[in-house]
Amino acid sequence: MHTPLCGHAIGDPSEYAQQAIKLGFAEIGFSDHAPLVSHEDPTITMSVQQLPDYHKMCEEVRRNYKSQLGIKIGIEADYIPGYEEKTRAILNGYPYDYVIGSVHYIRHWGFDNPEERQEWETRDVNAVYRLYFQLLRQSAQSGMYNIMAHVDLVKKFGHRSSIDLSDEVRKTAEVFRNQGVAIEINTSGLRKPVQEIYPSLWNLKIYREAGVALTFGSDAHRPEEVGKDFEKAVALASEAGYKEYVLFKNREIERAVKI
Ligand code: ZN
Ligand code: FE
Repeated sequence: MHTPLCGHAIGDPSEYAQQAIKLGFAEIGFSDHAPLVSHEDPTITMSVQQLPDYHKMCEEVRRNYKSQLGIKIGIEADYIPGYEEKTRAILNGYPYDYVIGSVHYIRHWGFDNPEERQEWETRDVNAVYRLYFQLLRQSAQSGMYNIMAHVDLVKKFGHRSSIDLSDEVRKTAEVFRNQGVAIEINTSGLRKPVQEIYPSLWNLKIYREAGVALTFGSDAHRPEEVGKDFEKAVALASEAGYKEYVLFKNREIERAVKI
């Protein structure tokens, strides 16, 4: 879940907490976009200077809702090759419950950014998919992340690979398992042009077969998106054969919960 600090989410964290209580959740977690390490863009992430505000904000809402709701404090950090040390320094600055890794960039191209959507016209879609999975593996190998976000985000605008990518996904799942990295079922894809949960069922089955742990996320950028479409997410998890999901604390799996 995000906060207005990233420049493209709205609503006070307390409104996110209230929505979660309304839905009967026992626990939620914030994971706003960490400062970009390659360049600055106030419409995409908070700045380094805003990190203390982020933590103050999350800790305050955690304190205020303590008796009604568990609140974990995490962060979503982009994987940008060559900037690992800078990223690690940011992530080591605070005691997170979990760090979500995400791939939104292929070199300098923000492939899921609506403003850079044009670039798809000049690209070989199959090659983009391959590069994307390669970056997912590299992210997990960096050892910086507990969970990888939306692991087939490349489909966001509906571009589909015309080749069988099972081997790519299998290789990726093996790296995740070996690194102890979990994945998430992220319902925000339903609110995007592709209108599909991330990841697709066939991907999810491969992760389950490889023994990769699972979390649930709504990727909420506004209070009413908290827990959105979770009944669909749970159905998808079961269909893929998942029997449990995991909760994180202090950057480790705290416990598994039956689905
Ligand atoms: Zn966002
Ligand atoms: Fe993301």
